[in-house]
Amino acid sequence: MQLRLAGITPESVVDGPGVRFTIFAQGCKHQCSGCHNPATHSFKAGKMFEIEEIIEQIKEKALITGVTFSGGDPFFQAAEFAQLGQQIKELDQKLDIITYTGFLYEELIQDQEKLSLVKVTDVLIDGLFEEAKQDLSLNYRGSSNQRVIDVKKSLRTDKIVKVKL
Ligand code: SF4
Repeated sequence: MQLRLAGITPESVVDGPGVRFTIFAQGCKHQCSGCHNPATHSFKAGKMFEIEEIIEQIKEKALITGVTFSGGDPFFQAAEFAQLGQQIKELDQKLDIITYTGFLYEELIQDQEKLSLVKVTDVLIDGLFEEAKQDLSLNYRGSSNQRVIDVKKSLRTDKIVKVKL
């Protein structure tokens, strides 16, 4: 199975706590005003990667503490990122997965394919980037409307449980 990616940062310290292997999905339809990453919007640009190829790269990074799915928006390739997430967990349960999305949690759990990606995610940072709510003091998110969600607890309790990173 292949994913269309804008790129990979193998050791990032800005996409969540610790040292993270960050994977940038190529393709996004949300059109947030003030988006910092417009080059990731096209579904024709970027490069195709085999999941196995990405897993091999992750194996080489002994120092990483987690993996971040960013974009673009990974939920436009939900089945593919869900498969990648499963293989990351099979490789090492201790690697936590943070996923960024412009969709809302409530929307994602209504769709089986998107739900499959939610389920392999530990922390979901959801919601559109809103320029008027931009706040540079926020950790790991661009605007104050975006929520940092503990996915496992939210799925278990059937309500949104936020977490501080
Ligand atoms: S979801 Fe992210 S990549 Fe997509 S338009 Fe909004 S800020 Fe840009």
